[in-house]
Amino acid sequence: MVAWVDLQGEPILKNIYSNLKKNQMPLFHTEAIVLRSINLSESDKLVTFMTKRYGKVKCVAKAARKIKNRFGATIEPLSHIQLIYFGKENQTLYRLNHSDIIHSFQDIRDDLQKIYTGIYFSELIDTLIPEMHPDPNAFRLLQDSLKTLEVVANLDVLSRAFEMRLMCLAGYTPQLSHCAICKKSEYTTKIGFSFERRGIICEPCAFQAQPEIRLQAGTLKYLKKLKTMDIKHTNRLKFPKGIELEIEQLIHRFILSYTGRELKSYPFIKSMAEIDTSIEL
Ligand SMILES: [Zn+2]
Repeated sequence: MVAWVDLQGEPILKNIYSNLKKNQMPLFHTEAIVLRSINLSESDKLVTFMTKRYGKVKCVAKAARKIKNRFGATIEPLSHIQLIYFGKENQTLYRLNHSDIIHSFQDIRDDLQKIYTGIYFSELIDTLIPEMHPDPNAFRLLQDSLKTLEVVANLDVLSRAFEMRLMCLAGYTPQLSHCAICKKSEYTTKIGFSFERRGIICEPCAFQAQPEIRLQAGTLKYLKKLKTMDIKHTNRLKFPKGIELEIEQLIHRFILSYTGRELKSYPFIKSMAEIDTSIEL
């Protein structure tokens, strides 16, 4: 074989072969939102994306920790980007090839409470949505929720709606239309909720099911609304005092019953909400 060399002294055949090999790896083009970005080594980062076409994927961003890195702010959490990555199909880790900002959600970044809420949304998606399963609805839910987060002042209804909708998308839809035991849909003033039976329990059935939480019957109307309402219209709904706390506790414990652990970002949004309430008082 003739040992051709190029100007850098590299054997040409070796270069052509390695380029061909590289080209055999499929390139994936899609819109994505950055869920999280962590340091992988002295120079690289590991970035988790919720993509529009391929579901949740993880990519190594080579040299992303260098001062003049080519990815810049595009791999910051919450960024909505146009993404190109490559790797063998069905592998768990890909290589980031190119990323362009579509929307940076700057209005969220300028507000501490909104940043924590956005990070909480991302962490919840990262926890409940499995990798490598195309899920355009989960992508759309995150995108719509971040767009709404940019413009609304009251984050409670938006946060509860996001949690409820994501639980339904992840396959944990709560049964709210009738009692999980007797199937009746008429209630007295109090109803229960059983995490084990994933639904409401009427008063006469409470002795059988031992529901973990008791709710006012009026709370149910708001829970049903959260399941179906357009996430972009959450600013049109306001929870009455008292019901607000019941809804928050129910959904939070419902999520915990599946995740089995508290999310890291949850204490931050709780303490930010408490600061906000004390200022109002
Ligand atoms: Zn019943």
